[in-house]
Formats: sequence, structure tokens, C-alpha cells
Amino acid sequence: MSRELLLSAGVVVTDPDLLPGGGTLTDGAVLVREGRVAEVGPRAALTSRHTGVQELGSPSHVLIPGLVNAHDHGIGVSPWRLGLRDETLEPWLIGLWGLPPVDEYLSALWCDLQNLRAGVTTIVHAVPPGPQPFDERLDALTRAHRDAGIRALCALPVADQQRFVYAPDEEFLATLPRRLRDAVLELGGPPPAAPQALAEQAARAIEPHRGQERLSFALHPTGPQWCSDELLVALRRTAERLGAGLHLHCLESRLQRDDAARRHGTSTLAHLEDLGVLGPDVSLAHCTWITPDELAICASTGTSIVHNASSNLRLRVGVMPVREALDAGVTVGIGLDNCTLADDEDMLAEMRLVSALHGAPRDDRPPAPLGAEDVLRMATTGGACAALLDGEVGRLLPGYRADAVLLDLDAMRMPYTHPATPIADVLVRRAGRDHVSAVVVGGEPVLRDGRLVAHDEQAVSARLAVAAGRKPGAEDRRRAAVVEELAAVVRARTTPQAPERTGP
Ligand SMILES: [Zn+2]
Repeated sequence: MSRELLLSAGVVVTDPDLLPGGGTLTDGAVLVREGRVAEVGPRAALTSRHTGVQELGSPSHVLIPGLVNAHDHGIGVSPWRLGLRDETLEPWLIGLWGLPPVDEYLSALWCDLQNLRAGVTTIVHAVPPGPQPFDERLDALTRAHRDAGIRALCALPVADQQRFVYAPDEEFLATLPRRLRDAVLELGGPPPAAPQALAEQAARAIEPHRGQERLSFALHPTGPQWCSDELLVALRRTAERLGAGLHLHCLESRLQRDDAARRHGTSTLAHLEDLGVLGPDVSLAHCTWITPDELAICASTGTSIVHNASSNLRLRVGVMPVREALDAGVTVGIGLDNCTLADDEDMLAEMRLVSALHGAPRDDRPPAPLGAEDVLRMATTGGACAALLDGEVGRLLPGYRADAVLLDLDAMRMPYTHPATPIADVLVRRAGRDHVSAVVVGGEPVLRDGRLVAHDEQAVSARLAVAAGRKPGAEDRRRAAVVEELAAVVRARTTPQAPERTGP
């Protein structure tokens, strides 16, 4: 017997790209069969045709496609929670090296559960670089995603240059006092292997995990400034061979933009295009410092961008020109980057921030506000492109994966909201975790009546607290001290100093 489920709601958002004029059904339903949407239509018609099918939802709910967190690192205990304070990006990145390791399975599981509770059904997991071999780490991380029940794109990190500042490593290390240089060299481990060997290592690690319904893979050149041209080309070719895509951090800070100009005499995106790296199977996180010419390159190559609003504010890099990107025809998703304002992986709150962030008046250009429909599209169909799952998730149309979220519309509207308020507006302005009633991934409910089906959240939290609260050993303390010293050097060389304040 085929597995069927009927999802019904007072309002069903079937295709966010058609909002506000279309893309919704009143008193609608979605029939799920074998993990995919089989039929969409009026609830009355579907219930009479498919009697005896289990039903989830009610006329007081709104049903939307599952949200896509299009750039994240699968971390349940964020750097801030581990004691790393927010500051400018470059020294903050060095600070990551000094953080204690936390059980990666528990960490990713907790991250997934928090995402599911806020209506995220697909997560792009840019795996952070780490000392352990890929295969061991992927065993734990893919098991966490499977156990959580979330859909995940795991992107394996690869890099081979400019690990400290935007200059060759030898050049930077030569400027350090001998004692610190030796300590940093030890900390950094052996020099990276040759580009093709690095690409092959990642490809081999992916191989045993392919073919799982909710898991897909990408290669993750961590950023153009951290990868040689040879490596970028090797990863592009390897990704093509694997039928996987590429996911990169890109143009996150002004210094990264300047680095491309210095090394290549052109813009980052022009250089990536010259290398043949870009395409519809490539997504770029951040792009805070992207220029209009570079947006045109994204549009012409079909490369998508992920907006990381909270992270960019917390790490003081700026605000991505989202309106300009959308107007240029670029697909944009939303990512949490394990760095939301409240450090809580709350996609619904992030959507609210994105909707409010871009309307401020500007001196040189008109304000560039986003509509609620823009934001909902970014969190669904836009994210689907950035997760390299376009045509698979992001809409509730026949053939799509049955990834969906039921939210309590009456509770969002209470005590009164004008009935003409568009549904996207209600969702972006009002929806919070408490309104999420059910989350379905691949036709399977992973959250029902506001509670996770297969996990005791408190128990996972308690286990993670023990794993993260492990007392640091002598080696951990030594490492943290070296990193602190190194971060101070990087901070001094990369952070512009504010002019000295005079007067009161
Ligand atoms: Zn990131």
C-alpha cells in the first residue's frame, strides 16, 4: 500500500513565486504519496476522492512549503556560546581555531532540531574545516541529519592558501616573532596537499553516503581567497564528475573584495567566471560586497546567492544589496550561518529581520525595501536554488518533495488582523516558533502538535551541555593561548582603526 497523507489548511501557499496575485488556495489540501506531492486542490474534493487517508491540518492553519536555511554550519553550540565574542570577521575567524571540539553528531542534531522547530525542512550544511578525516566526520554528520529527519545538502570544505590574512602564508608567518611562528605552524598542521588530491579526498568521503533520499552533497571551496585557482578548477571538475554542485563563502568582507582586485586585477566574480567555476549548480554565501557588475555575472551564469543578514551584522561586514540582486535577476536565498541575532537558529525571526533591513533611506540611491513576498520567496524557492534543489523543494506542486509546514494562522492573527492583509505579510510579520504546528519532510511528519515526533529536546540539550562543557585540558589551554595571540596580530593588521575621539 502506498503511504499517503493529506495536508489541509484554510490557506495553502503552493508557489511563493506567484504571490501576491496567485500561488495560494483557500480551503485547500495537498495529497502526499510516497514522499512527494501527488495532488493539490480544494480540500472538499481531495477528501471525497481519497477517503481514509490520514489528515493533518485544519481551516485555522496556513500550509507553506518547508523553509530552506541556505547557508549554515550544522553547529548546535555556536562559537558565541563557546565563548568567542562577536567582532570583525578576520580576527573572529582566527578565534574559531581556539574553540574546544564538541561532539559533532550531537551538535548537528541539535542544530537540525532547532531548524525544524522554526519550519526549516532543508539545511545547507557547509561543514566547517576540522582536523579529523572527512570520512569519520561525515559518518557522524550524516547520521545526525538522518536521525533529525531534515533534508540536508552537506558541503565538504576544501582550501589551500591564505589561512591567516589575505596574503601568502609564508609572507605572513615571516613577520611573526619566532616563538609565535613556531606555535602557529604547529597549530596549522601540515601544509595542504596538491589541489587534485584535495578534491579527490572530498570526493572519496562523499561516495559511501550517496543515494540517500534526504541527503545530497556539494564541494565547498571555503572561499575564493582561501583557494588557489588550480584548486577551484579541480573542485569544479570533480563536482561535475560527481553530479554535485559547489557552495562557497564569497565577498563577505571588504578586505576579501580588495584581495581579489590585488591578486587578479579584476573582481572576484569576474575571476571566478574566467575560471569557469560559476553556474546554476553554484551558490555563494554572503556576497555583502558584491558590485552591480558582479550581480550581472551571477544573473548571466545562473549562480545563486545566500543572504546572511544576522551574521553580517554581528561580524560587522555590512548589508548585502538584496534588492539590487533581485532586480538584476539573481536568485537569492536566506541562510542563518549559525549566527542569528539571538543565536537561536530561528529562520522565522531571520525572515523578519531581512524584511526590515533593506528599507533605510540612502544618500546616493533610492531606498531598496523588500516586500514580504520577496522574503517568503527567498526562504523557499530562492533557498531551493541555493541548496541546489530547484524543482525538488520550495513549492507544493505535484512532483515536488512533500516538505511542508503547518502554522497556526488564527493564533498569528489574534486578537485581530485585517482580513485583507496578504498572507506573506502575516507570515513574515507575525510567525514565530510557537505558531509552528507541524513540519513534514518527504511526506513524514517530524513535528506534530508543536512537538518533535522522534526526539526529546530536553534530553538532547542535556547531552549536548555535557559534551560542550567538558573541562579544557592542558593542550586545549595551550592552543587557546596561541590562537588569542595570533588573533591579536590579525586584528591589528585587518581592522581599520576608528579616529581617536576628542572632546566629551
Ligand atoms: Zn558561513
